[in-house]
Amino acid sequence: MSIFIDRNKCVGCGKCADVCPGNLLKITDHKAVIRHPEDCWGCTSCLKECKVEAVKFFLGADIGGRGSTLTYTYGDDNRTVTWKVISPDKVERVIVIDTQKSNKY
Ligand code: SF4
Ligand code: SF4
Repeated sequence: MSIFIDRNKCVGCGKCADVCPGNLLKITDHKAVIRHPEDCWGCTSCLKECKVEAVKFFLGADIGGRGSTLTYTYGDDNRTVTWKVISPDKVERVIVIDTQKSNKY
């Protein structure tokens, strides 16, 4: 498992580096880079912290992803989040979650 950081989107805020439990991310030349991609265990914390959708997560064959990517975006309403799985043939599967409802017990 590993992530991909889109340097064109990254604004170098460093939030992803702050939350990575493995200390795998660092900011170089105002852009985030992953130092040891083989050590990423796919916690997705960096995806959730990135507000500009610069981080993509590769869904490898080991978890049935077959090369798909996973992205995470916040809704403009500050309430919904969207998980998007994009397969290599560009088919998109979208899951929208209302965070206020999802956290109710
Ligand atoms: S998915 Fe988790 S372990 Fe992997 S780089 Fe992001 S924060 Fe670090
Ligand atoms: S959180 Fe996003 S924009 Fe900020 S440094 Fe990380 S990848 Fe770049």
